[in-house]
Amino acid sequence: MKILVLNAGSSSQKSCLYEIEGKQLPAESPEPLWEATVDWTHRQGIAEIKVKTSIGEGLKEEISTQDRSKVMAHLLETLWLGRTAVIEGPSEINAVGHRVVHGGRDYRETVRVTDEVKAAIARLSALAPVHNPVNLEGIEAIENILGAEVPQFAVFDTAFHSQLPDAAAIYPGPYAWVERGIRRYGFHGISHQYCAHRAAQLLNRNLLDLRLIICHLGNGCSLSAVQNGYSIDTTMGFTPLDGLMMGTRSGSVDPGILIHLLRQEGYTVDQLDQELNKESGLKGISGVSADLRQVLAAIDANNSQAKLALDIYIHRLRSCIGSMLASLGGLDALVFTAGVGENSAIIRARACQTFEFLGLKLDHQQNENHPVDKDIAIVDSTVRVLVIHTQEDWAIAQECYHCLSTR
Ligand code: ADP
Repeated sequence: MKILVLNAGSSSQKSCLYEIEGKQLPAESPEPLWEATVDWTHRQGIAEIKVKTSIGEGLKEEISTQDRSKVMAHLLETLWLGRTAVIEGPSEINAVGHRVVHGGRDYRETVRVTDEVKAAIARLSALAPVHNPVNLEGIEAIENILGAEVPQFAVFDTAFHSQLPDAAAIYPGPYAWVERGIRRYGFHGISHQYCAHRAAQLLNRNLLDLRLIICHLGNGCSLSAVQNGYSIDTTMGFTPLDGLMMGTRSGSVDPGILIHLLRQEGYTVDQLDQELNKESGLKGISGVSADLRQVLAAIDANNSQAKLALDIYIHRLRSCIGSMLASLGGLDALVFTAGVGENSAIIRARACQTFEFLGLKLDHQQNENHPVDKDIAIVDSTVRVLVIHTQEDWAIAQECYHCLSTR
């Protein structure tokens, strides 16, 4: 079975094709047959395309268009034409899975895309104005290229958090907010769910018996508290701006600051949006970069703002882990994933240090040793500490596989 996965961002598009052989899913993620990225961020109106295949063929080119469907049509042709061809033609694709950022309250699991689902994704664009419209564009482009008979599935980034108890999900504003759908939805759900299952696999335990805190630390950062296989608390909220300090996003700030800026300093809503989403976080405080590697290099060069940025990042990470811990009432494993979580030994060590009173003991050598899908706690630690390479695309392919096999 061949499954195409599409992961669309505001100005990027990642795609890959997986082949799943036999009647069972492999225990570990297979290499995709074909992987492609489209990036519009470097030059206005120019799509930079990169393709690579499992047999080592590659392609780099640029198309001068902003039109996602045109780029997609061209990109898909590289699956069956030229030296990056890995299939004979489009009819070999059995299903297509899309990461869809917002599923609202109605979509608690993966669904096959129908006209009704498309209308819901469009309606939910009000809650995810940057992502849902491009997700829908991707779905429509595929329908035009492959035809309506190829099943497409929407895998929602909010679904894993859809069982949050009301006490965790509802903001203590006026009750009318709840009725208007203003509540905590949580994001990065595909990654949190993948890591929860992978953690159970690595620990050789039943996920239903585990209490996990998953730290997804990339450019965007969020934590989830996982119990009985579900997220019961998470740091991102109504939008992905809530919670931890991130690369360019502030995370939680006193909402009174926003009122002050609007009222006393004459900010416009767009200015607030720009500062909170693009000019805050590691970048905003350090004045150096949103990239933790550059912030760490600046600290080595005695940059005091960079040091402050790291200190705030760690302080907030520890506080939010503490808050997830309280929601769980105990902890079996702390999981680190995504760009920072997978690669930064210093962030892991400093986050863990404060929880030594629980009996959590990190194996510092293992922590420094570029662990991938490994337990880095020492044997008698009361809490396991795992580093997991998140595989969102593979998780989406698995969802499609399950949907196809249970129909
Ligand atoms: P996204 O949220 O965009 O998917 P990633 O999960 O790829 O991002 O994380 C990207 C971030 O990971 C980079 O901005 C960088 O700060 C961080 N990162 C990657 N490698 C390292 C490393 N070796 N040390 C510290 N941080 C790293």
